[in-house]
Amino acid sequence: MAARLAPAQDGEATTDAKDSFLLDQSNPLGFFKALHRGFGARLAAPVQWEQVQALLQQAFDAFERNVAEPADCGGAVACHGGCAACCAIRVAATAPEILLIARTINDLPKRLEIEGKIIDADRMTRRLDPQQRMLAGLVCPFIEQDLCVIYPVRPMACRGHASFDQRACAEAMAGRAGDVPISALHLTVRSLVQNSMQSALRDAGLSWANYELNQGLQIALADNSCEARWLAGEDVFASALIADVSLAEMAETFDAIKAVDL
Ligand code: SF4
Repeated sequence: MAARLAPAQDGEATTDAKDSFLLDQSNPLGFFKALHRGFGARLAAPVQWEQVQALLQQAFDAFERNVAEPADCGGAVACHGGCAACCAIRVAATAPEILLIARTINDLPKRLEIEGKIIDADRMTRRLDPQQRMLAGLVCPFIEQDLCVIYPVRPMACRGHASFDQRACAEAMAGRAGDVPISALHLTVRSLVQNSMQSALRDAGLSWANYELNQGLQIALADNSCEARWLAGEDVFASALIADVSLAEMAETFDAIKAVDL
């Protein structure tokens, strides 16, 4: 366990004055449960968008705080502004993430241009499986001059993919064999933060699945009633569902974790 990670107290992840959750790597379930409780407290009915936005900020902060120190991650990650080597993979996002990105796009001067890129990207990739899609090398519609134009609100999936070797990323994206050394801590924290958020959304009666980002954004950008309908409990992004993992199995796992008495 890395030195900067605070020890758990009473079997839970710790919080500081800013309500920032810190992972004790020997107690990931405690981290999940503490996050779940914090997210759940933000979702008092009737849920308003402001609550969801605060929840997302809390999730992003919790993630970034736990991967901030290279020593905790096993070294300095190679990802940096100007490298978009991996930004051609399928991106999965939850409904709040899609809705937040849609809001961000709506405020951009290039809104229509970006929306056109999203539609084009979806048209070229929808029938491809994740491997085919990566090898197709079609960059994400949010890349401009190798920078992500929605970087501050990028999904958890993008945050959780951190490489130690930029050249290995480029080789992998070109279809050449070889492992990309990635940060296990980023993957772990992303999974714990995202899953605890999904569990809290489920408990609040909101749709909580993962959706393909470009398909979800087209839905959100085409109909500005999406946000209100999602807040009312409708699964507005159902047609963009990513069903790699059964939702029933995920729900069962969430319930089992919540029932664990730590
Ligand atoms: S949303 Fe941003 S970080 Fe994620 S794949 Fe697209 S360009 Fe890359």
